[in-house]
Amino acid sequence: MRRGLLIILSSPSGAGKSTLARRLMQWDPTMRFSVSATTRTPRPGEVEGQDYYFLDKEAFRASVEAGEMLEHAEVFGNFYGSPRKPVEQALEAGRDVLFDVDWQGAQQIRNSALGRDSLSIFILPPSIPELERRLRFRAQDSDETIHRRMEKSRDEISHWAEYDYVLVNEDLHETEERLQHIITAQRLRRQQQPALTDHVRLLNREFDAR
Ligand code: ADP
Repeated sequence: MRRGLLIILSSPSGAGKSTLARRLMQWDPTMRFSVSATTRTPRPGEVEGQDYYFLDKEAFRASVEAGEMLEHAEVFGNFYGSPRKPVEQALEAGRDVLFDVDWQGAQQIRNSALGRDSLSIFILPPSIPELERRLRFRAQDSDETIHRRMEKSRDEISHWAEYDYVLVNEDLHETEERLQHIITAQRLRRQQQPALTDHVRLLNREFDAR
């Protein structure tokens, strides 16, 4: 069985991370998406356990203290984190886990005990006006929220060089294909394929039997 990967996607808000994550899950439905826990209030239409696990601050803190979060961070006064249990279960079953987290989450996952199986990819926008256009086009946020997201973008982008791969999301289809290639290559790395030892042993037995 192949060892599961922790695939980390980060980008400034609006660069296309959620869209790409959704498409990756369609490309390979065996991948598991790590649903984050958050203390922010649900937006209309958001489903508990599907979009987020919604917790109050006290429950979130208790969960962090009990070591139940693989990573956690505070953004705009709310807490966000990745519950550890579903990640460990998926990895044990040889499945990859996809994380949509910011640079703080990415750093903590890389530095965790599971970090050696992590693959991190940063998505850059083609330009700042295009980033803002996509946020407005998504039509999900108020002017004030868009302004705040744009302010935070500079900070997020400043961490681009900490990632294994960086993609400029100009053409969505091209970016999607590149992501698939990166993941395919990473899955084929020798250390992700412990079963190779047995396979080569079998090849040697076949040599011996000739
Ligand atoms: P993020 O998750 O990074 O905040 P989204 O995935 O929600 O960003 O994308 C923001 C908006 O930009 C969405 O309306 C999405 O459809 C659009 N979008 C994403 N990638 C591209 C692209 N390559 N070209 C044009 N629009 C894009």
